[in-house]
Amino acid sequence: MNVADEDVSTYLLRAQRSLEEGRFQLAKEAIERGYAAAPEDEKVRDFYQQILLADGVRKSRKARDTRRDEIRALAKRERGSYRDSAAVKAAFEKAIGSFDKVLSAGPKNAKAMMLKAGVLDRMNRHGKRDEVLQLFKTALEIHPGNEELIYARERIIRPCRHCGDTAMCPECVGAGEVSALFVRSTCPVCKGSGICGRCGLF
Ligand SMILES: [Zn+2]
Ligand SMILES: [Zn+2]
Repeated sequence: MNVADEDVSTYLLRAQRSLEEGRFQLAKEAIERGYAAAPEDEKVRDFYQQILLADGVRKSRKARDTRRDEIRALAKRERGSYRDSAAVKAAFEKAIGSFDKVLSAGPKNAKAMMLKAGVLDRMNRHGKRDEVLQLFKTALEIHPGNEELIYARERIIRPCRHCGDTAMCPECVGAGEVSALFVRSTCPVCKGSGICGRCGLF
């Protein structure tokens, strides 16, 4: 074993151990260094993709949480005209960045293509539609008949029957409250969030 091999297995071990200990950030740093040192090493490349996939999922969750917090902080009547802030946009871009790293290490990684399509859809359902469809087209050319991909594509592109793709609660149309006989009360369908609970587009 030469010096370079030793370094690579050290990074791999450190990454695996950190992950077991629940220290995700350290695991990510270690495997990123391992991959930079030996991108041709199959074990390193596989683990790198695994960690970066998880990283993309965590980042997209963060983007959506930030968006939800912003929507909830708005006056109820303003929720229907919510637009993403720069912080939300940047958070989604970071998630995309992680999936792109996976795809540069493993261009055939079906999961990365699927998850990236999901995040693009959440970012901007109408604006990113062409990109989402193209991504599934490429993925299915590489993995023809892959059921997981076909199912994911259907789930993502099908319009939500409950909110008509507005992502707002159909009962209160984003207001979070309903009124009857001049009495306003919290919307029973969304429990005041104003967000469609079926599709989770927001
Ligand atoms: Zn509601
Ligand atoms: Zn919906």
